[in-house]
Amino acid sequence: MYDTKILPPTPEGIREAAEILRNGGIAAIPTETVYGLAANALDENACREIFKAKGRPSDNPLIVHIGRFEDIYKYAEGVSGNALRLAREFMPGPLTMVLPKKDIIPAVTSGGLDTVGIRFPANKTAQAVINECGYPLAAPSANLSGSPSPTVLSHVVRDMSGRIPAIVDGGCCTVGVESTVLTFDEEDRAVILRPGFVTPEDIGGVIGEDNVICSAGVTERVAEGERVLSPGMKYKHYAPKANVTIIEGSYDRYVEYVAAHNGSGVFGAVEDNRSYPFSSLFWGASPEEQARRLFDVLRGLDDRNAVQAYFPCPGKKGVGLAVYNRLLRAAGFEVIRL
Ligand code: AMP
Ligand code: MG
Repeated sequence: MYDTKILPPTPEGIREAAEILRNGGIAAIPTETVYGLAANALDENACREIFKAKGRPSDNPLIVHIGRFEDIYKYAEGVSGNALRLAREFMPGPLTMVLPKKDIIPAVTSGGLDTVGIRFPANKTAQAVINECGYPLAAPSANLSGSPSPTVLSHVVRDMSGRIPAIVDGGCCTVGVESTVLTFDEEDRAVILRPGFVTPEDIGGVIGEDNVICSAGVTERVAEGERVLSPGMKYKHYAPKANVTIIEGSYDRYVEYVAAHNGSGVFGAVEDNRSYPFSSLFWGASPEEQARRLFDVLRGLDDRNAVQAYFPCPGKKGVGLAVYNRLLRAAGFEVIRL
């Protein structure tokens, strides 16, 4: 048990977090996507502590966060033409590239794979901690495995108090969903393993839309025992205690449906502050706002002892695809088409 310290995002707080990390410890840090649970990515014992604190399956690889662009070459073996184009455009930012790894990345970090996911976060506090520490940081989301990712300090406190020595306070995460994860096939096309704020359209704009492929696991359930390119996609995720159901159809028909299925413990996520004939939870109107608020809304269901929650189906374009991908997992793939 730790007496978990909340550190401010000041030079002193950053120094204290970096010292914990340099000594082989773990600490939660803010990034622009979600809060990360960080450890020295080159220290396999430190990385084991991450898996322990989160209760994370050991075959689920950790993303390695760097604090300088050139460090890609320290940890990745061979950066293809399209990888470099995308890195130049979207780094620092919410994009993770899965590339062949150098031996310096321990197998514990890469979940036993011969590749490594590399990300250069844009969040200034994250950059400062990484650079002060002097090592790349492995940092999966700072939640207990299976629960919604943490996007505000209180989420991290709720999940990690007593389990880790320190949390750096970074306020609210601006993106709210985890990074876009992609890899490259033999023809150097980008294969999207997990959608995020950097959209397929954004990626196509840089390397050509014919060079972008969405892997099947993005919008479909991965069959039991099937080998997946991105191990994280096979796990149930983001699930509150309530049953979550996605309703596909117009927003008006969604509202009618929830009203007709109203009852005690029933909640409906809504796009505005109108009054509704059921208990509503404000979610947001744009895909960007819904991305930022999704995990807070999901966590809010538990606080309200919700039994059943309905969500209108997000559009599957742009950032909406990332929102849909996370919501599908929270819903255990339950979609009702009206
Ligand atoms: P998290 O850090 O919790 O956002 O999860 C990171 C996710 O990125 C993992 O669950 C994987 O799905 C994906 N990932 C990270 N590294 C790799 C890799 N080397 N190969 C494939 N997928 C990866
Ligand atoms: Mg996670």
